[in-house]
Amino acid sequence: MKIPLLDLAAQYRTIKGEIREAVEEVFESQRFILGPRVAELEERIAAYCGVSRAVGTASGSDAILLALSALGIGPGDEVITTPYSFFSTVSSVTRLGARPVFADIDPRTFNIDPARVAGSIGPRTKAILVVHLYGQTAEMDPILDAAASRGIPVIEDACQAIGARCRGRAAGSMGLAGCFSFFPSKNLGGAGDGGMVVTGDDSLADRIRVLREHGARRRYYHDEVGINSRLDAIQAAVLLVKLRRLDEWSEGRRRNAARYDELLGAAEGVVTPAALPHNRHIYNQYVIRAARRDDLKEHLQGAGIGCEVYYPVPLHLQACLSFLGGKEGDCPEAERAASETLALPVYPELTAAMQDEVAGAIGRFYAGRPGTDRAGKD
Ligand SMILES: *Cc1c(COP(=O)(O)O)cnc(C)c1O
Repeated sequence: MKIPLLDLAAQYRTIKGEIREAVEEVFESQRFILGPRVAELEERIAAYCGVSRAVGTASGSDAILLALSALGIGPGDEVITTPYSFFSTVSSVTRLGARPVFADIDPRTFNIDPARVAGSIGPRTKAILVVHLYGQTAEMDPILDAAASRGIPVIEDACQAIGARCRGRAAGSMGLAGCFSFFPSKNLGGAGDGGMVVTGDDSLADRIRVLREHGARRRYYHDEVGINSRLDAIQAAVLLVKLRRLDEWSEGRRRNAARYDELLGAAEGVVTPAALPHNRHIYNQYVIRAARRDDLKEHLQGAGIGCEVYYPVPLHLQACLSFLGGKEGDCPEAERAASETLALPVYPELTAAMQDEVAGAIGRFYAGRPGTDRAGKD
């Protein structure tokens, strides 16, 4: 049995008719940029998060870039963020000429450690960019408190966490602005790239709206230099169909995560991911720590089981960021995570039998009988 890391074809089969109809409607209208479907999606996502405004963008990366840009962040400014995330968390900061300051992660959740955030605030700190990694929110209250006492805005990179909650509050709604990605592998994924910023601050939303269309409030009259980063109508049409299923799909992921917790909780060599009790984790990824991680990964892939390392290199050690002077030992927890983590298939269509197979293959690896998987593979 082949078990992919993610099976979007299985998902598509369940919604094919509705997707085709929604896309066809956009083709009939021939309105491909922004338009009524994008406006409707913006309203729905804002309501889903319990905030007043949302602005569609061309990607999650652009959502982060535009949110920071709208705050006026630039050269000479510092932005505190996590060293353990997808690359565009940090590239959004450096692209604006600002300096990322890395606060190491909490080893239980892989999310930024609030105590280290507070300790990293200095006179040049202009924002705190928090990431809700793998679908679990960071510990927001101490971060929001530290930020509020100094008047520093908090931006949430919630690209992996749409629908996640922290003490009842939606991911993306707790800081000044939240950023989502609709990259196909996210819990709410489009048919290509897409993203969105949500905020309760109307003037910030207006500013982002202008910046995503070349900085022009009136067409061809440019008050400032913006970019072209709009959401396509086709993406919005697809996402509106999928948004109706989002909670059901995330529940499926949560059920599968709970099943893995049971299957792997006592397994040798494996540490299952911690979900803090006050959080609703939506498991965009189910990520274990594994002894001899690289060998386990090779073993699972050899047995036809999809798995992936998110992320093998912490951000402070990325080659293109060497100008920041980051070195090994700066963020030991992020570095350890980078060498130990492995994501397993957790998508909602995954069956209990498939999960048994994954857990069995892991068990055989640590029992020193990995060969039985290769031999038994069909
Ligand atoms: C996916 C992701 C992004 C970027 O989103 P894109 O839509 O691919 O540009 C940013 N941050 C995190 C944490 C992500 O997972």
